[in-house]
Amino acid sequence: MVIGVSTMPQSARPQRLTILGATGSIGLNTLKVIAAHPERFELFAISANTNVTRMADLCMRYQPRYAVMHCDRAALQLQQQLPSDSTVEVLTGAQALVDIASDDQVDCVMAAIVGAAGLMPTMAAVKAGKRVLLANKEALVMSGQLFIDAVADSGAQLLPIDSEHNAIFQCLPQSVQQQLGRADLAAVGVQHILLTGSGGPFRQLPLTELAQQTPAAACAHPNWSMGRKISVDSATMLNKGLEYIEARWLFNCQRSQLQVLLHPQSVVHSMVQFVDGSVLAQLGQADMCTPIAYGLSYPERIDAGVAALDFTQLGQLNFSAVDSVRYPCLQLAIDACWQGQWATTSLNAANEVAVAAFLAGQLRFTDIYSVCAEVLAAISPTTLNSLAAIVSLDEETRRVAQQHVARYALC
Ligand code: NDP
Repeated sequence: MVIGVSTMPQSARPQRLTILGATGSIGLNTLKVIAAHPERFELFAISANTNVTRMADLCMRYQPRYAVMHCDRAALQLQQQLPSDSTVEVLTGAQALVDIASDDQVDCVMAAIVGAAGLMPTMAAVKAGKRVLLANKEALVMSGQLFIDAVADSGAQLLPIDSEHNAIFQCLPQSVQQQLGRADLAAVGVQHILLTGSGGPFRQLPLTELAQQTPAAACAHPNWSMGRKISVDSATMLNKGLEYIEARWLFNCQRSQLQVLLHPQSVVHSMVQFVDGSVLAQLGQADMCTPIAYGLSYPERIDAGVAALDFTQLGQLNFSAVDSVRYPCLQLAIDACWQGQWATTSLNAANEVAVAAFLAGQLRFTDIYSVCAEVLAAISPTTLNSLAAIVSLDEETRRVAQQHVARYALC
């Protein structure tokens, strides 16, 4: 790729944006927000895995400079679907992803690839000192302290996009916002971070029926429209577990400072409790355009195209403790969080394998937990102090997880 240097001062031109995972739920919502503010944002590059048709549509509609597909075959198909006079340059492969995330001309990177595949390009954006809008929680879960250290070393600006972390970020003082991962919460009077979760589609289902639930049922989230992997994670509440680990790193939490609450309506997106008895909460529609717009425009605010909350229509807001029998994956993740980096890297890998097998009809819903727990028990604790060591453990865990999936595999 040609790396050029912009001649315009940053303040005089729109923010230049790369969207990693542009064809997904977060990617499309990001495109929707920036399309409404053409004076503020300019699209530099977009990426996808294999969805050529959607990528071709996005290229023609938004005219990025670069479009990156995961493999050569998909890139070739994309090139064939674009008009012969298209100015979009089609690229392929892992290095191209790193290039569009770290190019000198890019100001801001939306990290919205799902899963471990997002780690390297997200890290590349961090190391290049970009403004990084972090949706890809798996990257942080996998690399924890290394990720936070890379942010500190490069001076990257990290902005959480997960609605819960975005809510917490909004409730915290500016001194913490500007030192994500390193600020002392107790020193600014924070007592607890209260992470809320809806409980997903099976919150009220009889426990005896959980095992038979189909991928379609697991992906039918009552409040949020999301990609398939995070939807299944929401149904097991392993998503809340990954978010717990994400919150630990983003906000530098001690175990006693981090709590999870069930809140079925998904109106309060999370809260911060202070020592003086005050609780600050962020409320809003269950629409990711709000945190995306906040991340894009921070510290200003822009119209996200989201309807205002109508408090006269809200009805009740309920909160309760999480039932650990219904959601064993959450406790597994909380325990992994305090066991060490190896445990969260392995849990993330095992879960990705198990969820893919469930979505492919090879595992029952409740086997996702069994596979994750067995794999964690089978992996030997190890110290992870480099990206190479993290990737190596991720690969080893996937091999072990595949063996466990094979034992459960449905005929
Ligand atoms: P989607 O499944 O909708 O989209 C995933 C994106 O990643 C797609 O563009 C997909 O391309 C691309 N992708 C998938 N696999 C690869 C790969 N191996 N290499 C390169 N690109 C790949 O996911 P979501 O948008 O729902 O989620 C994205 C991230 O944001 C996740 O980490 C999720 O946890 C997080 N998040 C999502 C929320 C939501 O509301 N959706 C809320 C909070 C966080 P293709 O289309 O070609 O497959």
